[in-house]
Amino acid sequence: MAAYDALKFGMGAPDLPLPESWLPRARSLALALAEGERARGPWLDVQRLFSWLPPDEPLGEGLFRLAEALPRTPDRASRRALLREHVPFLRAPAVAALALPLAEAGLRAVARQFVYAESIEAALAQARDDRRHRFSFDMLGEGARTAEDAARGFSRYARAIAATGRAGEPQRLGVSIKLSSLHPRFDACGYPAARALLLERVAGLCASAARAGIGLTIDAEESERAPLQLDLFAALARRPELLAWDGLGIVVQAYRTGALETLREVLALARLRREAGGAALAVRLVKGAYWDAEVKRAQELGLDGYPVFTAKGRTDLAYVAAARALLDAAGIVFPQFATHNPVTVACIVALSEARPPCPFEFQRLHGMGEGLDAAMREQLPALPVRVYAPVGERQELLAYLVRRLLENGASTSHVRQAARSSDPGALVDAALAFAEGPPPAPRLPDPTEILMPERRLARGPDLGRLPTLERLAKEVAAAPKDWLAPVADGDAGTARQAIDAAYAYRDEWARTPVEQRAAALERLADRMEADTPRLVALCVREAGKTLADAHADVREAIDFCRYYAGEARRLFVPLPLPSPAGERNELTLHGRGVFACISPWNFPVAIFTGQVAAALAAGNTVVAKPAEQTPRAALRVTELALEAGIPAQALHLVPGRGEEVGQALVDDPRVAGVAFTGSNATAKAIQLALARRDGPIAPLIAETGGLNAMLVDSTALPEQVVDAVVASAFRSAGQRCSSLRMLYLQEEIAPVVLELLRGAMAALRVGDPADPATDVGPLIDEEAHRALSGYVVQMRAKWPVVGETPLPARAGNFLAPVAFEVGSIRDLPGERFGPILHVARFRIGDLDRVIDDVNACGFGLTMGIHTRLQSRAEQVRRRARVGNLYVNRNIIGAVVGMQPFGGEGLSGTGPKAGGPHYLPRFALERTFTVNTAAAGGDLSLVTSSL
Ligand code: FAD
Repeated sequence: MAAYDALKFGMGAPDLPLPESWLPRARSLALALAEGERARGPWLDVQRLFSWLPPDEPLGEGLFRLAEALPRTPDRASRRALLREHVPFLRAPAVAALALPLAEAGLRAVARQFVYAESIEAALAQARDDRRHRFSFDMLGEGARTAEDAARGFSRYARAIAATGRAGEPQRLGVSIKLSSLHPRFDACGYPAARALLLERVAGLCASAARAGIGLTIDAEESERAPLQLDLFAALARRPELLAWDGLGIVVQAYRTGALETLREVLALARLRREAGGAALAVRLVKGAYWDAEVKRAQELGLDGYPVFTAKGRTDLAYVAAARALLDAAGIVFPQFATHNPVTVACIVALSEARPPCPFEFQRLHGMGEGLDAAMREQLPALPVRVYAPVGERQELLAYLVRRLLENGASTSHVRQAARSSDPGALVDAALAFAEGPPPAPRLPDPTEILMPERRLARGPDLGRLPTLERLAKEVAAAPKDWLAPVADGDAGTARQAIDAAYAYRDEWARTPVEQRAAALERLADRMEADTPRLVALCVREAGKTLADAHADVREAIDFCRYYAGEARRLFVPLPLPSPAGERNELTLHGRGVFACISPWNFPVAIFTGQVAAALAAGNTVVAKPAEQTPRAALRVTELALEAGIPAQALHLVPGRGEEVGQALVDDPRVAGVAFTGSNATAKAIQLALARRDGPIAPLIAETGGLNAMLVDSTALPEQVVDAVVASAFRSAGQRCSSLRMLYLQEEIAPVVLELLRGAMAALRVGDPADPATDVGPLIDEEAHRALSGYVVQMRAKWPVVGETPLPARAGNFLAPVAFEVGSIRDLPGERFGPILHVARFRIGDLDRVIDDVNACGFGLTMGIHTRLQSRAEQVRRRARVGNLYVNRNIIGAVVGMQPFGGEGLSGTGPKAGGPHYLPRFALERTFTVNTAAAGGDLSLVTSSL
């Protein structure tokens, strides 16, 4: 393993081999530090807090939840409700009323232990008196969602740098900054457009820091942002005006599987800088603060692997290997080791003692690692320690505390383990195992294998990484230009010919063993996975989907194939039924015959494939009519299906107009069932046509639109809400059945959320869907554009605009996202299938009435609720009549098998696509009863009575 080799043999050209003696020295020092840490810890730090209130026990969890939500919740009713919910003994209203101010004061007092000061001036005054430590000040704040946030972030840092510079202690004082505070689009998609401004801002801050002679370190954030952080850092390190400054620093996270690679690049940069006569770079090594979020994201996106190690020992090993590389490079870099783990500290000290002395320092967070710090003062008095000192105002204190708790709450973290253990020796031995033998094996299955052996999840690219996005854009450009192929529309005659063929083959396909049908669908999934670039190109070019939306469409289609294959195997086997003695009863499922699958353009691959795969899995032959706008994507899926071994007689594709082909399909009495996704009006017309025709009564499985709402109460986190709203309302240009149409904001937080929403909408980019920098592509066609533009004009005349995205002047069916403030959902004329959001305010006491209003529209597809109150989420759950209800997240992107998708009322007939009740709806049921007594009695009865 690379990290193991790097530890033993160094990275590049180590100036000294690692002597065997380092490990015994590390062990004895670790033990001394761990014992010292226990003896000298302060009355309150995270470690103490965890030993009193473990976060996995109700009281600890309650504190954690309260701390996160209480300070930002403006209304008294919600604050009391939070208190009652999270502190069980305060459930009595009288007690809660008295307890609220006490609880708030208590939480603030706790938070103050972790926040250094409320202003930079106060922080500097405090630091002046603490001669033992160096300091790096961190100005607290959420990542920027708007240009205004970013401008505020910039001036906050600029003020801090100026004040710190004036303090006149360059070596001892510095600042840390987060790039996400300096631009609302510090993400892969937005980076190409954001880079120039970001660089200008951060270079400006660096120039001020350099003039003042203080350090400035760029913090590390989520792994997908690491290449962007490195890109900016490299640009800064090369700037002639910053060459002589020795304060430029970067944070490297050891838990990233690419950590050593990143470090290599940083060291190469430091070498170049030195060759150009420049000063050393500072490198702060941390393990990484976003472990859970990284694992979750990798699983959701179906990434090829995790971007972080999944065994704690591997992170520890990579950290110590990276530390060795930094010590080897001391001179061109200034190593800074940020950790609260005495074992990690001991390893580094042992490594440093095995080589010629060089300058380096340790770092800790304010409010953490104080016991260790005290132990180090005793054992290693010459070693400098820098405190990372968060500076922030009241409302930011507790959110910050919660992040620290989250970061250190994992059962694998040293702080947590030390809080539990009474045996430092055992702790040290376990923590040092990584250095002794082969590195521990990964602990989690790969992201696409979390449901194995049941099924593999569709793989997905990491669209958060700029190089990946750029590669995908190139793939789209290089893909065969299928979208230019002329399509000959079928007509009623073509449709009848297809039915003839499908009808003739129906019994044979129904008799084909389920295993064979399922295996063919799994092969189709594999082929689609291999053909992803071409399918994505079709979605982008034919349907105007952005790269991210196109990939999601193809992944969903792949998941449908594998899921329905598994469901067919589960369901299409005889089900034994209760029987009296002397009888055997079984229930079996069978294909109905010919199924018509009529799909829309908004998920040209996923919905088309989902309908067809379900019908085929259930043993039906299929005549599929894709949307008029997207026949080519359907054609490609059909070609792959035939290549995968679905017989040509079982699957027939007939593109054409709904009035012709669709009508011919539903009118034909040989069609035994219809799966339809599209408008409510068309679904009704199909239902009527099916009712009117002769022959057997055919089932209709219809998924239609929705007037989807999201309710936000005052306990929600505005930044999280706005992220969810923007994704829900504007991804796919608002052309999803699940898209958000109506946002309800509790009146107390409406101004804050609307301000953020306005800024976030202004930062979106409308444009060519093949361009990685595009957030919102075009509408599907001119007709949609005409209708929706007309609606927007009408709305502008009636209601105030509360958010809008700029629309670049370009040809095409582009409609800029827009949000109107209306009175309530009753002001909406119906579903408008585009990036148009409606917002209304509500009183929390009217929550039931709001839900009733939404219900009264008759649709029932998706709904969202943002609240930190479980009781409120349950209140909405009990009352709302919707198919998919989401709490504290966006309301789009239902995952096959995990969030089966489909609505009720005007939104569809059910059952849900990608759910366990879907396939039976495509099937007939037959029972089989055998009188086993007929041939001489019931043998089992005879034998059991012996
Ligand atoms: P340990 O208990 O030894 O390590 C815990 C860490 O191990 C976890 O945080 C995680 O990284 C890793 N881990 C946990 N479980 C697993 C697992 N199952 N598999 C693999 N790895 C696992 N973090 C940032 O991300 N960016 C920063 O810019 C940053 N700046 C910091 C500055 C300072 C001064 C300090 C002290 C910390 C900073 N951190 C930053 C936070 C730092 O990443 C956490 O403090 C650190 O994760 C805790 O590590 P430790 O060595 O103290 O504790």
